[in-house]
Amino acid sequence: MPKDFLAGCRDEYDVVVIGSGLAGLTSANVLARQGYSVLLLEHHYQLGGMATWFKRRGGHIFDISLHGFPIGMKKSCRKYWTPEIAESIVQLKGIRFENPQFSLRTTFDRQDFTRIMTDEMKVPEETVQRFFDKARSMNFYDDQETTTRELFEEFFPGRSDVVRLVMEPITYANGSTLDDPAITYGIVFSNFMHKGVFTFSGGTDKLVTQMKAEMEKNGVDVRMRSLVERIEIDENRNVTGVVVNGRRIGCRAIMSNANLKSTILKLAGEQHFDPEFVEEAKAVRLNNSSCQVYIALKPGETFDESCGDLLFHSEHEGFDATAMLSRDISSRTFSFYYPSTRPDREGPDRYMVVSSTNANYDDWAHLPEEEYEASKEDLCETTLDCLEQYVPGIREKVDWVEASTPRTFEHYTRHIGGASFGTKFEGLDVSKRLPEQVSGLFHAGSVGIIMSGWLGAVNYGVIVANELDKYLVPETATV
Ligand SMILES: Cc1cc2nc3c(=O)[nH]c(=O)nc-3n(C[C@H](O)[C@H](O)[C@H](O)COP(=O)(O)OP(=O)(O)OC[C@H]3O[C@@H](n4cnc5c(N)ncnc54)[C@H](O)[C@@H]3O)c2cc1C
Repeated sequence: MPKDFLAGCRDEYDVVVIGSGLAGLTSANVLARQGYSVLLLEHHYQLGGMATWFKRRGGHIFDISLHGFPIGMKKSCRKYWTPEIAESIVQLKGIRFENPQFSLRTTFDRQDFTRIMTDEMKVPEETVQRFFDKARSMNFYDDQETTTRELFEEFFPGRSDVVRLVMEPITYANGSTLDDPAITYGIVFSNFMHKGVFTFSGGTDKLVTQMKAEMEKNGVDVRMRSLVERIEIDENRNVTGVVVNGRRIGCRAIMSNANLKSTILKLAGEQHFDPEFVEEAKAVRLNNSSCQVYIALKPGETFDESCGDLLFHSEHEGFDATAMLSRDISSRTFSFYYPSTRPDREGPDRYMVVSSTNANYDDWAHLPEEEYEASKEDLCETTLDCLEQYVPGIREKVDWVEASTPRTFEHYTRHIGGASFGTKFEGLDVSKRLPEQVSGLFHAGSVGIIMSGWLGAVNYGVIVANELDKYLVPETATV
C-alpha cells in the first residue's frame, strides 16, 4: 500500500495553503495564530520552496537560496515568527566585486557605497546623496513608467562602472533588468543599503525546522508530499476546496503559494475568471531562472576569510543583464560559507561555496539528456576553473560538486520556466486582484519583483494573510 500522506487530515479547514515557500509558511503561521484552522500542503518532501536545503554524502548540507537578504527580515521574523529565529539573523560584512572595471570590498550599505562612489569613482557627493534619497523615497504608488535605465541615465550618465556597482547585485538578487520599473529597483536597493546584507546563521535547515515547530505549535496541519491537483470553485465563483493526492478537502478560503500563472491557469482553470483577467494573467512575464554549482570541501580543508562572504565575479566588460543570463558564462556570484555562519551542529567544521548564475530556462529545458548531463558537468568544471583564482588548489580540496539548472528548480518548486524570482512587475496587480475574481482565492508568493526574495515573500505572505483574514471574518473561525 502506498503511504497516505494525508492520513488523519480533517475533511474541512478554514484555510488551505498550497505550497510552503516563505510566503506560504508565513501566511499559514499568521492565519493559525489568528485562530483559523489551517492545512498547509507541500508537494515536495521538504518545506521551504526555494528556501530549502539538501544533504549529500559526507554530511554536507547545501542551502539553495541563502545568499543574503536585507535587515528587514529580522523585524519580520521577530513579528511573524519567533524571537529565536530573528536572533539568528547576522550581517555578512565581506561583500566583494571583481570585474574588469573595479576590484573592491564593501559592507554594502549607504555609508560605504557613498565612500566608494565619491572617493574611488569620483561621483560628486551631492549626486550620490540625491540618488540614494530618490531611491529611498520610491514606493509602490509612485510613477511606474520610469525605467531603471532612465533612473541611472538621470544620475550617472555614461558611467557604466557606477551602474554596475549599484545594479549587478540587484540583478542577481531578483533577476531585474534596466528595463524594469525604477520603483522596483529603488525599493529593493534601498532595503539592502539601509544596513547591508544579512544571512540566517545555522542554515536553512535550522530556520525551516524552527518555522515548522512554530507552525505546529500554533495548530497548522503540515503535510508534505501532498500535491494539490485542483482548486475547486463553485458556479458562483466561490472556492470550496482542493483536490490533493486524489482526495477532496473542503475549505472556506485558499492561499496559493504556487506560481501565480499556474494557480490561475492550471489549478483553478480559466473558465472561472473573466476573459480579460485571463488575458492579463497570460501576459504576466516571469523572471528568469538560475544555475548553481554546489561545492563542499573535504573535512579539514578550508579557504581564507579574505575570500569574503559574497563575491560578484565577472569577466564581462560592463554591466549586461543579457550576458548574465547566457550559457556562455562570464559572470558568477560566489557565496562562501564558513563554519562561523553555517556551523554543522553534529559534524566537523565545514567550508562550502555555492556559485550562482542567472539563466534562461529555454537554454536548458530542451537539451537532449546526454547533452544536458554534459552541460552540467561543463558548468561544474568551468566554475572550479574560475574559483581557482580565489581558492588556490580548489580541485584537491573538493569533496563534492554538483550543478542545478532551471530544470531542477522547475522540478522541485513547480514554477513555470523554473522562475527563480517570481514574476515581473505586472504580476503583483494580477495576484492582488485574484480574490475579486473568485471569492476566497488568494495568492501570496514571489511577484512583481518587490514581493520576491526572502524578505519580499515573507512580507507579502503577511499582507495577503491579513486580506484573507478580513474576508473570513475572525468570529467565524472553526477552532
Ligand atoms: C538559486 C536561488 C537563489 C536565491 N537567493 C536568494 C537570496 O540570496 N536572497 C533572497 O532574498 N532571495 C533569494 N532567492 C529568492 C527566494 O528564495 C525566493 O524569492 C523565495 O524563497 C520564494 O518564496 P515564495 O513564497 O514565493 O515560494 P517558493 O519558494 O517559490 O515556493 C513555492 C512552493 O509551492 C509549492 N507548490 C507549488 N505548486 C504546488 C502544488 N500544486 N501543490 C503543493 N505544493 C505546491 C512548491 O513545491 C514550493 O515549495 C533565490 C532564489 C533562487 C532560486
